[in-house]
Amino acid sequence: MPAIHVHAFGPPSVLTYDPAPITLTPGPNQALIRLHAAGVNPVDTYIRSGQYARLPSLPYTPGMDGAGEVLALGEGFKRPDIAVGTKVWLCRSITGTYATHCLADAKSLCPFNPDQISYEQAAAVGVAYLTAWIALVKKAGATQGETVLIHGGSGGVGLAAIQFARQIGCTVIATAGTEAGLHQCIMSGADYAVNHREADYERKLLGLTDQKGPDIIIEMLANVNLARDMAMIAQRGRITIVGNRGEITINPRGLMAKDATVTGMSLFNATDLEWALAMRATRDGLAHGTLNPVVRDVLPLAQAAAAHDLIMQDGSRGKIVLKCD
Ligand code: NAP
Repeated sequence: MPAIHVHAFGPPSVLTYDPAPITLTPGPNQALIRLHAAGVNPVDTYIRSGQYARLPSLPYTPGMDGAGEVLALGEGFKRPDIAVGTKVWLCRSITGTYATHCLADAKSLCPFNPDQISYEQAAAVGVAYLTAWIALVKKAGATQGETVLIHGGSGGVGLAAIQFARQIGCTVIATAGTEAGLHQCIMSGADYAVNHREADYERKLLGLTDQKGPDIIIEMLANVNLARDMAMIAQRGRITIVGNRGEITINPRGLMAKDATVTGMSLFNATDLEWALAMRATRDGLAHGTLNPVVRDVLPLAQAAAAHDLIMQDGSRGKIVLKCD
């Protein structure tokens, strides 16, 4: 199967396109998928560079997210809603999604209606929406009427979190670092959008909450923002750390004074139940049209290295997707 291969961890240039066909056979309770699109996530770049706690053995094909059609089912496949020909998005493939074909376990698959979203949008769903739901609903316990700050709203997880928070009935404040990102946050359902690169952005944020602060902060860059989040959060507020790229000094007294909670999450740690609930919430939201994945750029599969360069640059406004046809 034509695919991207990584033979040594390193810079984006280690992502090499190999057109040679390879045959994949689904094992028990697995499916073989013909992929039309693959979603690119920051974690793909951490793994490729070798700077991640969980590394695959070399060589490997990157990619957790993808969308396509089921070509074959393995022995004892246990999903009555999925048959040969079903169009699915998937999260966590066995063989990697930067390819024309992949294998995935039954629980990693979710059917979708191609009249409602495109293959490119479906490939943008997995990591972003499952992470956003677990961070917002399971970890922060968001409920109707609360004010939620999506700190880093313009990226894949952020736009998904904005859409879930709006669906729940929260007041949604989102941040971005560019005009295009701020605009996309509003278009995806945020009530307010604030530029996190402006020096006094916290003052603006507090003004939007009558100085009480947000009840919930979903944080995409904790090493930069956690101390300021603790200063801004409302009494009994909850901060969920989704993204972090370094260290930060904080004074825990700030949490005591507010009875506030800081919690972290990793999608890799999700229990089977959390995974299934997040998938169901995402499937239902896509079917009802309350969730609408935003794709900023579609690149050919052979340009995976360019996609890895792009995703690490500032100026997010949705997901980057590789076209696998
Ligand atoms: P992405 O699409 O690349 O988006 C990155 C986001 O971070 C953008 O909204 C960006 O805004 C924002 N950002 C940049 N500087 C910021 C700052 N100073 N303050 C607040 N936000 C800032 O990435 P993603 O897929 O949304 O993922 C976001 C983060 O969560 C990444 O670090 C990723 O590795 C992590 N993540 C964790 C999990 C998990 O299981 N814990 C799962 C998925 C992702 P601008 O570009 O507009 O400045």
